[in-house]
Amino acid sequence: MTESTAFYCRRKRRGDSDRKKNQPSRPFGGTVLFYSNDRKLTIVQTIYMENYIEDSILFLDGKFLKAKDAAASLFSQTLNYGYGAFEGLRSYSTIHGTKIFKPYEHFTRLKKSCELMNIPFDYSLEELTQLCYQVLEKNSLTHAYIKPLVIAGENLTLTASQESSLMIYAWEWDKYFDTREVTVCISSYQRPNPKSTKIEAKVCGHYVNSILAFSEAKQRGFDGAIMLDGNGFVAEGPGSNFFYEKDGALYTPPAGNILMGITRQTVLDICAELDLPVKEKLFRPEELFEADSAFFCGTAAEISAISSIEGQELNKPWKASLGLIVQEAYKNIVMEKSHAYVIV
Ligand code: PMP
Repeated sequence: MTESTAFYCRRKRRGDSDRKKNQPSRPFGGTVLFYSNDRKLTIVQTIYMENYIEDSILFLDGKFLKAKDAAASLFSQTLNYGYGAFEGLRSYSTIHGTKIFKPYEHFTRLKKSCELMNIPFDYSLEELTQLCYQVLEKNSLTHAYIKPLVIAGENLTLTASQESSLMIYAWEWDKYFDTREVTVCISSYQRPNPKSTKIEAKVCGHYVNSILAFSEAKQRGFDGAIMLDGNGFVAEGPGSNFFYEKDGALYTPPAGNILMGITRQTVLDICAELDLPVKEKLFRPEELFEADSAFFCGTAAEISAISSIEGQELNKPWKASLGLIVQEAYKNIVMEKSHAYVIV
C-alpha cells in the first residue's frame, strides 16, 4: 500500500468528543481507511465505526474470515450502483438458548429480493440459517444483529451481473433509537416510486433514500422520520414500518409503497391473537395529528414508541397505549416466553 493509493474518509460523529470513557457507544459513524489492492476494496482501519470490528469473523463465499482480511471488488455492481440485496435479522438470548427470530421469513424475502432483481442466489433457507448461527457462534454473540448481504458481481455496465457473493456479518446492537420514546418529523423525502423499482425487495440502493430521510430528521433535531408515498399518503420510516392508534384500533399502511416488514406481520399476528382491532388503510399525515399513539416496528427498531410528530405530542401516554401491549407481546415472542394477556 502506498499513500497515493489510499482513499481516506474521515467523519467524526456529533457528541463523540464528550462521550465518557467506557460508556457504551451506539453503532454508526466512522473513520475508515480503504485502499485499492489488486482491484479489491479492503477496510484497513476504523476508529469510530463500532459496528465494524476488525477481528470479527464473517462469512464470505464459503469461508469464515476476519473482517479485516475480507475483501470485495471495487468493480462490483453493488458498490457502483447499489445493485445488491440484503437482510437484517436479530438473534436473542432466549430461555431456549440463542435464537434467531424468524430466519426463514427473512431468507425467503432475501431470495425474493434477488429474484426480483435478477441477481443469482441459490442458497437454501436452511443453509443460510445455519451460516448465521455459525457466524454468531464464531463471534460468541447471542444478542446480535445479523446482516447477510448479496453482492452482485463485477460489471460496470447496466446489464445484470451473472454472479454474486454472499457476506454474513453480525455485531452486538442493542437499541435502534437512543431514547425510549422517539420524536419524529414528516420527511420531505418520499419513498421510492413503486413504478421505478421493486419496492417490496430489500435492495441496497433503496437505502440512499433512507439515509437522506434519516439524516434530514437528525439535522432537524428529530429522532426519526415518517415518509410519505408519491400520492402523499403515509408509507413508513426509513428503516421500519409504522402503526398509529385511534379510538381503540390500530392502523397501518397497506402493501404497495412499503417494504412488507416481518415485524409488521408479527404485529398483525399479535393483534389477531389478542383481539386488538387493526386495519390496513391509506391515510394522510394530517390524520396523525389526531392519533392517540403511534409506533415504528422493524427487526432493528423492534417496537419503538413515538412520543410526538412534528413537535405535536400524541394524545395518550405510551404506558396507556395499545402499542405498549404489542411491545410487551413482541418482547415475549422474540424471547420465546409465553405471551398470554388479559385485556381489561
Ligand atoms: N421498512 C423498511 C424501509 C425497512 O428497511 C425495514 C427494515 N428491514 C422495515 C420496513 C421493517 O422490516 P422488518 O420488520 O422485516 O425488519
